[in-house]
Amino acid sequence: MEKTIEQQIYFDDLDGLIKAMTAETKKGKILVAQIAPAVRFSIGECFGEKAGIDNTKKTISLLKELGFDYVFDTPLGADLIVVDGVKNFLKMDLKHFEKFPVFTSCCIGWRRFAQKNYFYKKHLSKEVSPNMALGLTAKTFFANKIKKKAEQIVVVGIMPCTLKKYETLYEFKKGIKYVDYVVTTKELGAWAKKENIDFKTLKGHEFDYLHESSKEGLMFGASGGVTEAFLTALADKLGEKKEILFFRNNKRIKRQKVKIGDLELNVASVYGFGALVKLHREMDRGVTYHFVEVMQCPLGCVGGPGQPEAGFFKIKRRAKELRRHASRKREHSALENKTVDEISAYLEKKKISLHLHEHKEHK
Ligand code: SF4
Repeated sequence: MEKTIEQQIYFDDLDGLIKAMTAETKKGKILVAQIAPAVRFSIGECFGEKAGIDNTKKTISLLKELGFDYVFDTPLGADLIVVDGVKNFLKMDLKHFEKFPVFTSCCIGWRRFAQKNYFYKKHLSKEVSPNMALGLTAKTFFANKIKKKAEQIVVVGIMPCTLKKYETLYEFKKGIKYVDYVVTTKELGAWAKKENIDFKTLKGHEFDYLHESSKEGLMFGASGGVTEAFLTALADKLGEKKEILFFRNNKRIKRQKVKIGDLELNVASVYGFGALVKLHREMDRGVTYHFVEVMQCPLGCVGGPGQPEAGFFKIKRRAKELRRHASRKREHSALENKTVDEISAYLEKKKISLHLHEHKEHK
């Protein structure tokens, strides 16, 4: 009998996952994996490496060895939602204080909490997560490129987060999920060991078709990254090239007033619900924030529950290396990503939305 999401989360169900994915390939379906930013900086720890080593290419090779037909890069999904989010933010009137802050929605732990609280729910950003945005892209834009139907593509998110398994409950069209399965970093490590794959000797492989994110897409993996991505793209949109570096630190609450064009924004990024409560007290005292990033885990997804066990020192190392690697990427912001333009034009033409509220929300 198929296990519920809660059973998958609380009890190790790697065998069940492998069985389900094998059954899909037997039906002739195309198996697509996508790798979240934080995974690549911690998967090596499953094989005795130190924290923070960038194993992007080896993780792609590993997934190919495990039978995936295509491997895509989740940060491209992050770029897609940043561009959409900036567009929606600019439609809002900053004088309507009661409409703010806009809370980010990409952290599933926070999102599930916020949906149960009227204040947070009404301020939650409408965009789906990067995992869901790229799953949607694989089943629409990419399926069209390879002349397949959405039903023929199975998307597996390789995520740092056990709670991301909840995202496999959402459908963007009747009977068609954004993402079909989620495999955590720890599960991927265990799967490689089960198949006797020697991770250390893997040669390394490039991503397939859907990759090319901006540096900001990769930054989603550590606390402050979503805020940086949003503000950088917002500045680009308003004709200013701005380096937003303030949010690249490990503080639980990062607050900053930012001036972009005529906009004067009060922005914050928090991780952990204790930090959120502190920020909320400020809002109760009358402080207006316009944009707030909330991540449930220590330092964001790098410290996620699907990652190899780690203390704060290791998590900090992962965040440091992720930020360093992101800085090397070519595109300055999500708005400069040409692949995003191409995908957005396709989704718009087909009237496919990146917003979750148009579909059934799961309790
Ligand atoms: S911050 Fe934690 S709970 Fe939220 S998406 Fe990342 S890993 Fe999951």
